[in-house]
Amino acid sequence: MHIGVPLETLIGETRVAATPETVKKLVSQGHAVTVQSSAGLNASLLDSAFEAAGARIGDAATAFGADIVLKVVAPTPAELAQMRAGTVLIGMLNPFDDGNIVRMADSGITAFALEAAPRTSRAQSLDVLSSQANIAGYKAVILAANHYPRFMPMLMTAAGTVKAARVLILGAGVAGLQAIATAKRLGAVIEASDVRPAVKEQIESLGAKFVDVAFETEEERQCAEGVGGYARPMPASWMERQAKAVHERAKQADIVITTALIPGRKAPTLLHEATVQEMKPGSVVVDLAAAQGGNCPLTVPDEVVVRHGVTIIGHSNLPALVAADASALYARNLLDFLKLVVDKEGHLHLDLEDDIVKACLMCEGGRVVRNNGGASGP
Ligand code: NAD
Repeated sequence: MHIGVPLETLIGETRVAATPETVKKLVSQGHAVTVQSSAGLNASLLDSAFEAAGARIGDAATAFGADIVLKVVAPTPAELAQMRAGTVLIGMLNPFDDGNIVRMADSGITAFALEAAPRTSRAQSLDVLSSQANIAGYKAVILAANHYPRFMPMLMTAAGTVKAARVLILGAGVAGLQAIATAKRLGAVIEASDVRPAVKEQIESLGAKFVDVAFETEEERQCAEGVGGYARPMPASWMERQAKAVHERAKQADIVITTALIPGRKAPTLLHEATVQEMKPGSVVVDLAAAQGGNCPLTVPDEVVVRHGVTIIGHSNLPALVAADASALYARNLLDFLKLVVDKEGHLHLDLEDDIVKACLMCEGGRVVRNNGGASGP
């Protein structure tokens, strides 16, 4: 089959959907791969490296004109116009954006949004949310350290002792756990909170302290269990108690990293303005939920702002700041998904009995499909 890899045109998107490593594998399986000229440049991947791996370097029209198009983010209307009816598009296509899915369906393409894959063991190797959240968690700590006007580790020097930074992490999923691990490597003292009590052990095994907000009702306990590994919105009673606990911890913290997301909904507010007001001057907040409305109401998407003496970082695409590795992991996720929709003879084979294929399919034959209502979440 002909597989196309276009240059991503969204502002700030530096990743690319294939690497020379994955192109080599696709070519060895008998596919012809066209990589748009300069598609990998922002991820430190030269056209010559793609060519050496067996790709043809072409223009946008050739890449979008392929049988299968591999992309990082959803296509713009101009990009969609370059695809033929029946083209298979695979990428992070934002399954909760109805307008976007309807546009893709209207164009007659078959689209798979990998964010909608179930969180099962079999789907782990193509789990784009995990591969990219892992990078975001790492980069959040590096950015925070960069903006923080003090050392992260404790230092005992001839000129005196420097205390270790105190880091508070709200939301200990994939990004939060990587943030804990990264902050730990930099020598910080860490506390972390999540609605899911199951993460207590994971937080502690990484050397951080779990901020426990106990459940007082059966409703709170059930909400916290979530659905399919994802959180659900918590009752107001629990959120109030959590806000109190966060308020006390954030006053002591030097860096707060928030990562709490609820699929398909606005991110919950975890760090209120009244809390930021009482944080130490020079403290840093990194809000990983910036693109979903933010965990802090003071966050401005894609900006670094200073409010009440606290630096608040609202970068909405942290994986794009680690473009080479983010692309490498993402491209491997795509390669694993392709195994599910292309048979051994190299032909397209859509098996809708396969739970992963079924969950990721967004549209086919001019119709919106979305077998799971948009994602594997609630
Ligand atoms: P996510 O990005 O959707 O959310 C981040 C975290 O925020 C989650 O841990 C969530 O519980 C937490 N959160 C939501 N509301 C909160 C609140 N009010 N206060 C504090 N925390 C809040 O989650 P994710 O990182 O994509 O994944 C969540 C979990 O799914 C993982 O930790 C893991 O257990 C599971 N998972 C399973 C697989 C698999 O089995 N293949 C793969 C990836 C993740």
